[in-house]
Amino acid sequence: MLKIENLNVSIANKHILKDFNLEIKEGEVHVLMGTNGVGKSTLVKALSDHYDCEVSSGRIDFKGKNLLKLDASERANEGIFMSFQNPVEVEGVNNMYFLKTAVNEKRAYNKEEDVNSAHFLKEVKSIIKEYNINDEIIKRNVNEGFSGGEKKKNEMLQMLLLKPDLILLDEIDSGLDIDAIKLVAKAVNSLLDGKRSVLMITHYDRLLELIKPDYVHILKDGKISKSGDYSLALKLQEKGFEGLGEG
Ligand code: ADP
Ligand code: MG
Ligand code: MG
Repeated sequence: MLKIENLNVSIANKHILKDFNLEIKEGEVHVLMGTNGVGKSTLVKALSDHYDCEVSSGRIDFKGKNLLKLDASERANEGIFMSFQNPVEVEGVNNMYFLKTAVNEKRAYNKEEDVNSAHFLKEVKSIIKEYNINDEIIKRNVNEGFSGGEKKKNEMLQMLLLKPDLILLDEIDSGLDIDAIKLVAKAVNSLLDGKRSVLMITHYDRLLELIKPDYVHILKDGKISKSGDYSLALKLQEKGFEGLGEG
């Protein structure tokens, strides 16, 4: 699915990721942990072609294609979904229109015809009902005046409609109440069919209890310093990064 080799990434002329390597296979769920400011968001930014960061060398292969040659919208259309730590407000753009446009752009890119409007509306309504989403948010402008929780739910709505192959979640659980975290986990789990993969960043094991990771990695000094299974996240929770010598 995703293979990152010797990736070097800078933000504001600061070298953050240094010869970073990571491979995520089909169907796998990976978690990246690490102290504040170590470069976790930088990795997801590099994967989604965010304007903040600059990739100076290395390779990223996604489904056999050279990801670094694709721009942000091409990456989304190829099947990468990223939930940002702080979802942006898109002034003056109706959310329903935005959602449908995103879905149709992906379909056009993949040489499929536009989604049937009635079918699309039905799908949106069924997601809204199942995930307890305030139906006002599809009528309003994208994220404009949404609460933190509503923004994250809107991200989940986008994700469920786009059905990405690779899901990147950057601290999706921060600031969410328990019920909302459960809904996020339910949305992600509903997409996990043994083929789709997940890379998530979190500080808390509550999300990991609900979305069971296959691999847990610790990022330190620009690269992965330690990898393990779920038990590594539990050890971290107990001892902290310092306690494991990963601070
Ligand atoms: P993490 O997500 O692990 O907390 P980040 O990847 O966001 O860390 O940040 C890595 C480093 O890059 C930090 O030192 C952070 O202050 C710096 N950084 C991130 N974004 C910017 C920016 N837009 N301008 C300057 N420095 C930045
Ligand atoms: Mg941070
Ligand atoms: Mg971050």
